[in-house]
Amino acid sequence: MGINLELEGLSFNGIKFDRPLIISGPCSAESEEQVIETARQLHKNGIKIFRAGIWKPRTRPNSFEGVGSRGLLWLKRVKEEFGMFTSIEVANVKHVYEALKAGIDILWIGARTSVNPFSVQELADSLKGVDIPVMVKNPVNPDAELWIGALERINNAGIKRIAAIHRGFSTYNKSQYRNNPHWEIPIELKRRIPELPIITDPSHICGSKKLLFEVSQRSMDLNFDGLMIETHINPEKALSDAAQQITPEELKNLLAKLVLRKSNIDDDLLLITLEELRQEIDEYDEKLLNILDGRMAVSRKIGEYKKKNNITILQASRWDEILKNMIKLAHKKGLSEEFIMQIFRAIHQESINHQTRVMNK
Ligand code: PEP
Ligand code: MN
Repeated sequence: MGINLELEGLSFNGIKFDRPLIISGPCSAESEEQVIETARQLHKNGIKIFRAGIWKPRTRPNSFEGVGSRGLLWLKRVKEEFGMFTSIEVANVKHVYEALKAGIDILWIGARTSVNPFSVQELADSLKGVDIPVMVKNPVNPDAELWIGALERINNAGIKRIAAIHRGFSTYNKSQYRNNPHWEIPIELKRRIPELPIITDPSHICGSKKLLFEVSQRSMDLNFDGLMIETHINPEKALSDAAQQITPEELKNLLAKLVLRKSNIDDDLLLITLEELRQEIDEYDEKLLNILDGRMAVSRKIGEYKKKNNITILQASRWDEILKNMIKLAHKKGLSEEFIMQIFRAIHQESINHQTRVMNK
């Protein structure tokens, strides 16, 4: 299904931001002092968009669930005293109503809400006729279509200033990340909707301070548009997401270290070299396709043979042998095991599909 979003660039009060757009502030607004002091320090370092959770979606009940509406008054102060734009998460119609009443500048839809089309539609309906930027976090599960669907619902309500926030995806497997980045998903989003700004949220991807810089740099190298990073004046004491928050000072250092590479190539010589290399890649890709085509033709012959002799398609030991051989070879060539497993699983599955068709003809 085609996507037809009607978008305007991200601007706030007519101000267009340079890449990267930086959004920062605490995971949660906890007290007036914490909000104002965090904002003061961020403002001093040139940050223009402030974030804070007022209503917090928590995994288990009886943990800190946010300060609620009274926090909106603190954000009003942030706006008035520092001239920053303020942004909060909204998860239901009441949140939208209160945020708009309090003059919040930007809304975002959290990962636990964007999974649910009913909730997103209710939010979209409540935003009809309102001109406010809305950022849509990826759903917790790695599903690009669901993310696109949420963006479409908001856009269909007439909201044109929309950004996607990439915050990673839940996994049961423990890894170095709290939420697996699955970079291929925001890359796919960019391919399908090139004019949609993508903001990376390294804080929720990492879950700790450790990889924040690497993830931020990766986002910039992928030519994404901005970063949302959680900051707290005293991260260890934070009431939510303590492990991943950094101080405004640490944020300043992180941003100073970021290397921002050119997003388009203006130099002819660079372009020519790159074009030559790209042509080489295209040739390899065509070869790959021809090889796969040839491999599938052999698979179909095997299918015919198995059919004639009444042998099952899957021969687990043979498949195990192929995989082990390829992994051994991959190691020699410096290709990662994960990559080779993914490729060969896909090839094997396609072979099975071809053989199944032959068998059941
Ligand atoms: C947050 O931004 O603090 C938050 C709750 O994020 P997410 O919806 O990505 O989990
Ligand atoms: Mn958080």
